[in-house]
Amino acid sequence: MPRPLTATIHLDSMQHNLQRARACAPLARIWAVVKANAYGHGLERGMRGFAGADGLALVETENALRLRELGWSKPILLLEGFFDPSDLPLLAEHDIGTAVHNIEQVKMLEYTQLYRPIDVHLKMNTGMNRLGFRPDEYAAAYQRLRAIPGVRNITHMTHFANADELEHPRLTIAEQVRRFQFGAGGLPGERSLSNSGGVLHAAELGGLLSNDWVRPGIMLYGGTPGGRPAADYGLLPTMTLRSEVIGIQHIEAGDTVGYGSRFEADAPMTVGVVACGYADGYPRHAPHGTPVLVDGVRTTLVGRVSMDMMTVDLTPVPNARVGSKALLWGDGLPIDEVAQAAGTIGYELMCALAPRVRVQEGRMGSDG
Ligand SMILES: *Cc1c(COP(=O)(O)O)cnc(C)c1O
Repeated sequence: MPRPLTATIHLDSMQHNLQRARACAPLARIWAVVKANAYGHGLERGMRGFAGADGLALVETENALRLRELGWSKPILLLEGFFDPSDLPLLAEHDIGTAVHNIEQVKMLEYTQLYRPIDVHLKMNTGMNRLGFRPDEYAAAYQRLRAIPGVRNITHMTHFANADELEHPRLTIAEQVRRFQFGAGGLPGERSLSNSGGVLHAAELGGLLSNDWVRPGIMLYGGTPGGRPAADYGLLPTMTLRSEVIGIQHIEAGDTVGYGSRFEADAPMTVGVVACGYADGYPRHAPHGTPVLVDGVRTTLVGRVSMDMMTVDLTPVPNARVGSKALLWGDGLPIDEVAQAAGTIGYELMCALAPRVRVQEGRMGSDG
């Protein structure tokens, strides 16, 4: 009998969330973002769950090649670009598109002969200050790229720093769009601006965004970049992490629990030990009070998360026993809520799912 910890991936929810993205951005084509092992869901499952997308976007060159091996024939985009000139012939051979965000990449394209031209997303830095050309140097980079025979279509791309907050006090979407228009103004080519935040807020942003391609990630996995709960947008969880209670301790007032004896009982209580710890990807810094469901009843963590186990308060679940079901996140407990309690974001929890966790596929409500 394997350890009871299991992550269930809901491919039907992935399809559903993709439809939500389409409904939010009906005029755009969709790059479904499958970097980081499809946000922890598995690259191949990402490919199947988002089979209806117009393209898949990621950052790992070897995984882009893997997608072709797996039979993905629609467009692929490397969001971080290529890293070495020796990558370019592979991109050409497998028709993999790439971001170009610095002048070194432009030079590599200039001195590499490609037997087949590749598509490029030229990236503008409109205030994120991570990758891309400044608006005032963008047109020159475009012209230089346009002159390279190995470059086919050039799409103009930028990335929002605060797409989860419409009126960010430091940098608004509107200001980033203004800089983008300034930099890419009269240049021919398609445009790609929105990540999940931009897609989810498309209605409020109205005509501000004109995307030919959108690049949703987290919303396709049933999370949000911040702000309102995912359910408000009609998104469904795509990963449910479940385990079981494998031990029970009845403790007295003054007893402590776990490493560091951080939690001290102020009255007699029952503590359940759940087989899931930080070596499974559950955040070690999740504090007392982080929500967990035991047999469908909401309770909380007590004490420190250890490598293979965590301890939960069984007071609200008096009938809990060894073998009771524990739900860490997903179908019944939004991952964003757990992440928020733990001082992080749903993205990090999904991506951190450890290789030792057994993964299966199943529909929501099926109880894995
Ligand atoms: C990761 C990434 C996305 C997806 O972002 P989400 O917030 O998950 O929607 C979009 N564009 C780029 C360039 C990215 O790196």
